[in-house]
Amino acid sequence: MSNARGDDPLLSLRDVSIHFHKERLFGLAGSETVHAVDDVSLDIYENDVVALVGESGCGKTTLGKTAIGVQRPTEGSVLYRGQDIWETKSGSGLFGGRGDDEYAAKEIRRSLQMIHQDPGSSLNANYTIESILSAPLERWQPEMTEADRRVRIYGLLEYVGMTPAKDFAGRYPHQLSGGEQQRVALIRSLLMNPDLILADEAISALDVSLRAEMMELMLELQEQFDTSYLFISHNLANAKHLTQRAGGRIGIMYLGELVEIGTPEQIIHDPQHPYTKVLLWATSDLRNRTGVDTPPVRSLDIPEPTDPPSGCRFHTRCLEARTACTRDCPSLEDHDGDGRRTACFRRDATHEYWESEPLAGDANAAEENAVGGD
Ligand code: SF4
Repeated sequence: MSNARGDDPLLSLRDVSIHFHKERLFGLAGSETVHAVDDVSLDIYENDVVALVGESGCGKTTLGKTAIGVQRPTEGSVLYRGQDIWETKSGSGLFGGRGDDEYAAKEIRRSLQMIHQDPGSSLNANYTIESILSAPLERWQPEMTEADRRVRIYGLLEYVGMTPAKDFAGRYPHQLSGGEQQRVALIRSLLMNPDLILADEAISALDVSLRAEMMELMLELQEQFDTSYLFISHNLANAKHLTQRAGGRIGIMYLGELVEIGTPEQIIHDPQHPYTKVLLWATSDLRNRTGVDTPPVRSLDIPEPTDPPSGCRFHTRCLEARTACTRDCPSLEDHDGDGRRTACFRRDATHEYWESEPLAGDANAAEENAVGGD
């Protein structure tokens, strides 16, 4: 569906960790550290689609915001076409860059855009749709005349099904449905000619019937505008739909870590990380692929990100956990040379995991509502 993926990374996250300090509850003195994201590395290419999936609070939104330069990493770096975006921003050049950077901070900001779950809050209620869509064109294509801008805006409104375009162009955001607002938000970000759009739960608020339609539109516009998407979702079925059509990848996050990443065929049809299997089970459209009736977890409790478990963070819930999992942290590795990377000792036939004892515990304790999903 999408254009050919570029060879060089457009954006590279290198060993990114993001920690927050949170005041303790109940008046206890001091603060605790929230491990929102820990040691994540990820490359996103031109014309790429990467979906990050995980339960609420797993760090996927924080990681997405870090990828587009909204959130500064505590450790690690974010590279735009090989250039550290935070080194660029912290300098003293014309646009905040150092002056000798290949890409100025202003250019990087334009290249990395975002559409939110709630487009109503990101579209200025005091402006008409035409004014909202004219703004990026006036800024980034100042050579365009007002008439040219109008032709372009009307053309895009018609393309996304908002006809008659003149009628929609004169409306205010509150006069549009949620789906129409999201289409306007998508058009507006694309008019900046971005290299990457972070779509953070961008279709979650839409009716189920509109979700597939919106994803198809995103893919069609991707071809026209030559952009990439970082798609954040708690719904594995939506991630599958989008990445399968685009030839993209799905990354699974658990408690701040990327635990598996691969093509939708690898993740959906042949999941290797035990947590990926939990997410499959928690997704009603995909549950029958797991072949089990009960959720494949040993505990209902999701650990606090202020106090993540030792070793493999999933060991407190993993049905396959052994004592070795409580001590060491598995790294994300390509075990089969097929591009899929998984962080689990079971993928290494020589690991001491196989000699260690299974963890004690009630493996059948989980109830159907143990894990989030649709
Ligand atoms: S390393 Fe151990 S606890 Fe972690 S996912 Fe693999 S088997 Fe489960």
